[in-house]
Amino acid sequence: MKVFVVDVAKCNGCYGCQVACKDEHVDNDWMPYAQPQPDTGHFWMKLKEKTHGQVPKVKLEYTPYPCMHCDDAPCMKKSEAFYKREDGLVILDPVKGEGQKDLVEVCPYGAVYWNDALNVAQKCTGCAHLVEEGQLPRCVDFCATGALQFGDEEDFAEEIAQSETMEPEWGTHPRVYYLNLPKLFIGGEVWDPEQDEVIEGAKLILTGTDGLTRETHSDAFGDFWFRKVEAGTYSLKVEAEGYQTVTKDRIALKESYNIGDIPLKK
Ligand code: SF4
Ligand code: SF4
Repeated sequence: MKVFVVDVAKCNGCYGCQVACKDEHVDNDWMPYAQPQPDTGHFWMKLKEKTHGQVPKVKLEYTPYPCMHCDDAPCMKKSEAFYKREDGLVILDPVKGEGQKDLVEVCPYGAVYWNDALNVAQKCTGCAHLVEEGQLPRCVDFCATGALQFGDEEDFAEEIAQSETMEPEWGTHPRVYYLNLPKLFIGGEVWDPEQDEVIEGAKLILTGTDGLTRETHSDAFGDFWFRKVEAGTYSLKVEAEGYQTVTKDRIALKESYNIGDIPLKK
């Protein structure tokens, strides 16, 4: 059984996988797995872009997002047009998908697209036509950073053990496994308004409602970052020698958060 392993930390957002998918499928007929993909509007391999934080503490993160080739696939429960191959790839039969525009609604991941010109519902095939010739899916083959991998499940046991899947609460059991999915961060800057200068080496203590505490120090620009933070409610204590301690309570973290400037008084 085949799996995709996606290491988000290695993805540089080059969009090459998305383009390679189009190069493989636009105007190319890969029956019995897919009719040609139209040249616009379809993203069988989609690069999701998300901005975390607020200016100037912003991080742009990219997540490659194909069909999840679910083992317990909602699409297969809703329509016979979908089937699973022995190697685990889920195919939307290009003949059974004809005239069935409502199939775009059956996938909770938004992986099914409608091809108006050919009157057919379509999605990622995992490049089944290449895989059965012992080749990699085009997106994986293109990816130069190693962010995308594909192969036999047993060869990726170590990666899978540390991975996450998309929306596990849906119970779909995806065959696309993610490493280093983006987590939240809290950032800010510590400064002395009287001297109008940043404070280097201030100690910042972040405590969650779960009682877990972590520490960091402001850098030469007065900046600090707590990375890979889970959503939750936090309090932050800022200490620096010669300054009054400042505490910020009830920081409700749902998205990455730039606290902004934290002034310390002597
Ligand atoms: Fe990321 Fe690789 Fe796709 Fe480029 S080709 S966007 S590095 S996954
Ligand atoms: Fe089906 Fe959507 Fe899962 Fe792909 S991601 S197997 S189309 S439910």
